[in-house]
Amino acid sequence: MKGRIKFFPIVNFITGSPGILRNGGIWRWIKVEIIKKRIPNIMMQALHFVDFNVTSNIFNKWFEGRTLKDWIREVDKNYTPKFFVDSGGFKHLHNKEYDLSDYNIKPTQEDIFMLQLRYGADFVASLDYPIPPNLNYKEARKRMELSIKNCLKLMELVYDKYSNCNVFPYLVVHGRNGYEAKYYTQNLFKNLEEYGYLDKPFGIAIGSLVPIKNHYELLFEIICSIKNVIEQYKKVNVHVFGISGYIIPFLIYLGIDSFDSNTYVQAAQNLRYIMEENYQKNFYAIDEKDLERCGCEYCLYLLNGGIENAKKILKSRGYLRHEFNGERINKSKIYSCIAMHNLEVQIRLINKLNGMKSKEEFLNWLINYSKGRYSGLKLISKLSDN
Ligand SMILES: [Zn+2]
Repeated sequence: MKGRIKFFPIVNFITGSPGILRNGGIWRWIKVEIIKKRIPNIMMQALHFVDFNVTSNIFNKWFEGRTLKDWIREVDKNYTPKFFVDSGGFKHLHNKEYDLSDYNIKPTQEDIFMLQLRYGADFVASLDYPIPPNLNYKEARKRMELSIKNCLKLMELVYDKYSNCNVFPYLVVHGRNGYEAKYYTQNLFKNLEEYGYLDKPFGIAIGSLVPIKNHYELLFEIICSIKNVIEQYKKVNVHVFGISGYIIPFLIYLGIDSFDSNTYVQAAQNLRYIMEENYQKNFYAIDEKDLERCGCEYCLYLLNGGIENAKKILKSRGYLRHEFNGERINKSKIYSCIAMHNLEVQIRLINKLNGMKSKEEFLNWLINYSKGRYSGLKLISKLSDN
């Protein structure tokens, strides 16, 4: 298992005007810590900047003659993270026409690829058209065909048109059930074979899972049908988009190689403090003992500043500054501490799984992990079917 599983926390770097550490509220502090800890793998959402106050003017300033990675190197020249940049396809899930014309970006595979290169991407995902749960079959099929077309286009961009770009492509597949996922993946591989791309390096990334992230059995069915098709062709890395939490060890056991998530931040924004083995607790119910038990640098910071003091600050207005642990902070600093603690707990779990010596050891751990959770026990029985 050693080092096999890669976890890509989602980080938003472009939160306003350049440079890296200037803005972003909670993100400002998270960026500081991510760089300080030199987190090796980062997931970047290609269109994250549209959610912040980033005009076309500001956008252009970021990319005048340098990549986002260059900006990060200015903060720490020894930090060389791997960037996985998605396509922003999920933004089309509900808004059919996402307007990017202000930024001079058309929602085409080539334009998105050029944007991914501007970030300094190491891994790029193809532009996909996710399938909303209630979409009729005819429309769903149309979207799958468009997504497959983009997979081929991405292979052409990476291996023909920009053959010295040095990025690794991930081709996105999805389906709302095992049948659709199998149909999609089979079609994709047939096309790759036909166009002569099957022998080129690529990975498979599974999308559209976020709306069903709590339907564990459906998740299982979809991932298994995709893996079964892949295995008929060749060994490729499989990434799962946007899923984390309790189910992750099961997916890893199934053979996924990497995943990404922003749960650490989302949970923190909802004041959820992640405990060992993916239990979450309301931050207001956390006491000194919890912080001591974890012992990460963020928990120690909260411990030193006083947990009750931290809770009081959280209830104050965002712009107010308070004395905490010898510095003047506002409440976004406390939020970022919870987020970074959450990230720390997730990384610890991955390190633990990566440190296991055999599949047997992993299975024994998994059985223990499932104890007392109905959904866990059901997954264990599903594992033995596969
Ligand atoms: Zn902690």
